[in-house]
Amino acid sequence: MIRGMKRIMLLATLLAVGALSLGVAAFQQPAAPPAPRVVEVEKLRDNLWMLKGGGGNTAVFVRTDGITVVDTKNPGWGQPILDQIKKISDKPITTIINTHTHGDHVSGNVEFPATVDVIVQENTQKYMEQSNAVYGLQSTPPENIFTKNGGRGLPRRTFKDTWTIGSGKEAIDLRYFGPAHTGGDAFVIFRDYRVMHVGDTMPTRDFPIMDKNNGGTGIGYAATIAKAAKVKNVDTIINGHNATTTTPADLKLYSKFLADFVKFVQNAKKAGKTVDDVVTTWKTPAKYAGYAEPTTDAQRTARANRIKADAQVIWDETK
Ligand SMILES: [Zn+2]
Repeated sequence: MIRGMKRIMLLATLLAVGALSLGVAAFQQPAAPPAPRVVEVEKLRDNLWMLKGGGGNTAVFVRTDGITVVDTKNPGWGQPILDQIKKISDKPITTIINTHTHGDHVSGNVEFPATVDVIVQENTQKYMEQSNAVYGLQSTPPENIFTKNGGRGLPRRTFKDTWTIGSGKEAIDLRYFGPAHTGGDAFVIFRDYRVMHVGDTMPTRDFPIMDKNNGGTGIGYAATIAKAAKVKNVDTIINGHNATTTTPADLKLYSKFLADFVKFVQNAKKAGKTVDDVVTTWKTPAKYAGYAEPTTDAQRTARANRIKADAQVIWDETK
């Protein structure tokens, strides 16, 4: 009898707690519960990691005097990055480098300690303050996450063409080769490891965004990344979104792919065709083996929209 009572009381308590937590969850998250934010960690070298998921690929470099992080993913993904870093090293995070202004590469900045030094190419500092709509992706400017956080996470130091952080085996070379994906794309070279983070200048083996709202270009894109592909003493590339690393040869081929596309668009314009004609007639040449081809309707639509946006940028730049 008493046992039965206890059981009932326990059940009642559990129900009450369950209802309470359900109530709280329903209050905070009117829609479905959020998917867990899983950051996948891949060790590239002794002190260099690539963190995947939640936006652009993040690089973590553990140096003697602290940790440098390259790119910080989408809003809400700063803490999951910090949680993974804690498992890697207990050194302080001293530096963030953002490869460019896009929200899926910079938003986590606001979740890092306010003491962290944020470094970007000087044009990117301007774009981060402006928070412009990404061309071909957003029709209205996104809310400025830095303003919303009292300016936290905004860059305080910038470079123009070239800058080196640290020295010797721990040197990080920062380079700018001109506009491509945006007007402030930084190439981050971990010198001793021969590894270069190229951000979204080559996001994957597929069409990039040519974000003219943030200084990006269509016609100049290929030439800019061809310069990056020639950086000496690099054998491994971290891409903005590719799940695996690539090589300078891949970057060079990507530059040729984009140059071919520019030619295709310009020929169409010369022949009196339209941007829509470009979308329906473009076929990725067979020499670009392994390049993404859409397989679902959603992918086909996304790909057509991307080609259309890129073709329009090139079209408008072609006099
Ligand atoms: Zn981007």
